[in-house]
Amino acid sequence: MKKLTGQDRSITRNWRPATQAIRGGTVRSHFGETSEALFLTSGYAYDCAGDAAARFAGEQKGMTYSRLQNPTVEMLEERIALMEGAEACRAMATGMAAMTAALLCQLQMGDHIVAGRAAFGSCRWLTDTLLPRFGITATIVDGTDTDAWKAAIKPETKLFFFETPANPTLEIVDLEAVCRIAKEAGVLTVVDNAFATPMLQRPMDYGADIVAYSATKMMDGQGRVLAGAVCGTDKFINETLLSFTRNTGPTLSAFNAWVVLKGLETLDLRIRRQSENALQVAQFLKSRVDRTLYPFLPSHPQYDLATKQMTAGGTILSIFVEDRAQAHGLLDALQLIDISNNIGDSRSLMTHPCSTTHAGLSAETRAEMGVEEGMLRLNVGLEDPLDLIDDLDRALKAVGL
Ligand SMILES: *Cc1c(COP(=O)(O)O)cnc(C)c1O
Repeated sequence: MKKLTGQDRSITRNWRPATQAIRGGTVRSHFGETSEALFLTSGYAYDCAGDAAARFAGEQKGMTYSRLQNPTVEMLEERIALMEGAEACRAMATGMAAMTAALLCQLQMGDHIVAGRAAFGSCRWLTDTLLPRFGITATIVDGTDTDAWKAAIKPETKLFFFETPANPTLEIVDLEAVCRIAKEAGVLTVVDNAFATPMLQRPMDYGADIVAYSATKMMDGQGRVLAGAVCGTDKFINETLLSFTRNTGPTLSAFNAWVVLKGLETLDLRIRRQSENALQVAQFLKSRVDRTLYPFLPSHPQYDLATKQMTAGGTILSIFVEDRAQAHGLLDALQLIDISNNIGDSRSLMTHPCSTTHAGLSAETRAEMGVEEGMLRLNVGLEDPLDLIDDLDRALKAVGL
């Protein structure tokens, strides 16, 4: 029976992340299916009225409604928690639902947060526009400046919020140092780990309290579904986050959870090969453009820190050309790489952040973040890197580079 259910944490928690990504959280039905079952159901039936009442009273284990629990979604939650080394996880409909829930579930009027300046555009909208509407203030700091985090703390500071590597500037936050500053001040850290995933970096190993994901990116990894996740302690997830998500409803669909479960099976393989490809492409680009940013290029300003806290450089790199016209010209000359603003896909995708992902921010905010008019972001996929290099070579020549 143990093999059929496979849910005994005293056994599963000792597996390494690549094993967790394939087997963690699997619960088999009485059919003993090898691949996780997809439970497309919104509700659950009870044997008797007393059972329904007991379940709603929390006196009987079991599910009541798929906004609250679903067997396929729970398998994904347990798997991500095990990969992350977290006590618990809740899956969400999108990465932004995860970020929003992770912040709003624990903040209230009068609170203050400190956030890294280089961030996904919608994350900056949360800190700059949404939170202030509810009387929650944010100090935006240069995430690479460890002292700035400390200096920004006020008596009402509740949390630090940042991503590393950051999108699209690839700035690295020193996880160990910044989490220590937060701990000493009694402040919680919320880390958006979408770029690295637990395969390349586990922020909790450095003291992070909450790790949130866009599972749309590397976890699905094949550009199919949107999904998100929040990991933390049992207490945080089940007492603070759960009442927020149960009542506001950013629930992940069972179908999307199932797709992400399938995606996770190849995550380790994909992210390592894509990181190798990205490094090779970055080395080529470095020889052709003035500035190429990739965490595992020795020329990255924080190369030592990146190689200390990550086991590979990830799939994203950025280059800087002259201006918007040259950047658009380069994109238009590509034949293999798609012009697309998604990342984490097994296909190589390139975008001009200023006119797409970061277009909604003011020119000042973009300048402060280092998102320049000539910046291009490339997600390196699983294609043969030599074909990617040929494509980029042709496109660079087309714009005179
Ligand atoms: C994509 C992304 C998000 C948002 O995720 P969605 O799944 O698109 O909602 C948040 N943070 C980072 C770093 C991302 O790359």
